[in-house]
Amino acid sequence: MSADFLTLAVPGVQKLSPYVTGKPIDELARELGIEPARIIKLASNENPLGPNPRVLEAIRGELSELTRYPDGSGFRLKAKLAERFGLKSEQITLGNGSNDIIDLVARCWLAPGRNAVFSAHAFAAYPLCTQAAGAESRVVPAVDYGHDLDGMLEAIDEQTAVVFIANPNNPTGTWLGAQALESFLDRVPERVLVVLDEAYIEFTEGDELPNGLNYLDRYPNLLVSRTLCKAYGLAGLRVGYSASSPQIADVLNRVRQPFNVNSLALVAACAALDDEQYLAEGRRVNRAGMAQLEQGLAELRLKWIPSRGNFLAVDLGRDAAPINAGLLREGVIVRPIAGYGMPTFLRVSIGTEQENARFLEALRVVLDQ
Ligand SMILES: *Cc1c(COP(=O)(O)O)cnc(C)c1O
Repeated sequence: MSADFLTLAVPGVQKLSPYVTGKPIDELARELGIEPARIIKLASNENPLGPNPRVLEAIRGELSELTRYPDGSGFRLKAKLAERFGLKSEQITLGNGSNDIIDLVARCWLAPGRNAVFSAHAFAAYPLCTQAAGAESRVVPAVDYGHDLDGMLEAIDEQTAVVFIANPNNPTGTWLGAQALESFLDRVPERVLVVLDEAYIEFTEGDELPNGLNYLDRYPNLLVSRTLCKAYGLAGLRVGYSASSPQIADVLNRVRQPFNVNSLALVAACAALDDEQYLAEGRRVNRAGMAQLEQGLAELRLKWIPSRGNFLAVDLGRDAAPINAGLLREGVIVRPIAGYGMPTFLRVSIGTEQENARFLEALRVVLDQ
């Protein structure tokens, strides 16, 4: 008899269900028996611009160093981020995507007997990492699909170690303004670490969203996490970072794998940060695509949640699973979000003008069936 390694796993892990990712293009191409080029994927909030040529050039320049371990301290990238944002390098922690940062936080501060507070419909990494650490998830009901910050404050107790806030939130796209956020940070107990997840902030401009980095001096219990995987277009390379007090960063660094960010990702991130134009173009395409989708959805008499990300949660007003299946048959991959407690919604990432048009046309066809 072989041992049952599921029941031998630590309790938090036994109850985990794996994160569901967007369906890969190749997988759907195999299922439909068609060319991958005929499929569009608007399922993982990826950048539709394609790779930045300056990033590709930086990667090519690094290839001859592939036999060497990366710089485990990420010196150059941290220096660049520090300079860009007026921080000290000691405040920055690099991650293998910002998911890695979220996981590091959970492993450093969550454990059985402790809890994390976050909103219903919040990003799936929060419950996952909390559960894996054996801690309790305190899920606070949403208000109009957005974070109820007063409710979250009430949910905090003596055992609360971490609060996760995504601004904007994925998959809802809902966001918090400066006033709401400040008033929340003013009232959170100092011993509770607040993770402000700003994975999409670069898609916004001006004061469309409060900039979490501006609050670090005022709130030593704040950690701001960001990523280069979305607006900077480096999803496949996996690179993100957090900014926090040097002490919080020091704790994260004790648990962080020394080479969690690979050498290609390090040089790519530096090159990406130097190219404001790519970012501006991404913002422009996102803004235009958002308007295009909103207009198309309105013509289909569908509702959606207003979003400050590069995606929209569309409410079909009925079980979204058959609609999703129909879209897949049309070669269009979007994301069902029943797992987020939103079974009548599909989340669609904003693509190029052609991709958005193809999605809208496929949706029209499927709804007419
Ligand atoms: C996509 C996303 C992330 C992180 O993605 P990485 O690819 O790991 O950088 C973090 N938070 C939210 C809310 C996201 O949507």
